[in-house]
Amino acid sequence: MAEQECIFCRIGRGEVPAEFLYRDDSVFAIHDINPKAPVHLLVIPFSHLSALTADPQPTLETLGRLVAVAAQLAQEHGVDADGYRLTINQGPDASQTLPHLHLHLLAGRRLSDLG
Ligand code: AMP
Ligand code: ZN
Repeated sequence: MAEQECIFCRIGRGEVPAEFLYRDDSVFAIHDINPKAPVHLLVIPFSHLSALTADPQPTLETLGRLVAVAAQLAQEHGVDADGYRLTINQGPDASQTLPHLHLHLLAGRRLSDLG
């Protein structure tokens, strides 16, 4: 998928309206449009990195930012104590639907199911 058509690239460029819960130079966070838990946020790099192993690969710094920002958002949303799950869906068996790297933050209920 070209960056011109990628929905996360378009949101990052401000072409599609979205509520930015967080943004810095490298990543931004939004609500998932189809939440699977009371808190379901996405932390997304501005760069179009299609997968963990694709070229260009995400840098350790970017991966670290995704996790650190998700942990900060979990605190801000008051789910830190009860717990949360951070997920990257990589490839078809993980049901990855959008080919732009993103980290799911899921919380607010007992996450007994996988994913
Ligand atoms: P994945 O299966 O990991 O590729 O997840 C993609 C996620 O992006 C799904 O949970 C979708 O609900 C979510 N999503 C798709 N389009 C949008 C959008 N425009 N804004 C926010 N979340 C979206
Ligand atoms: Zn993209």
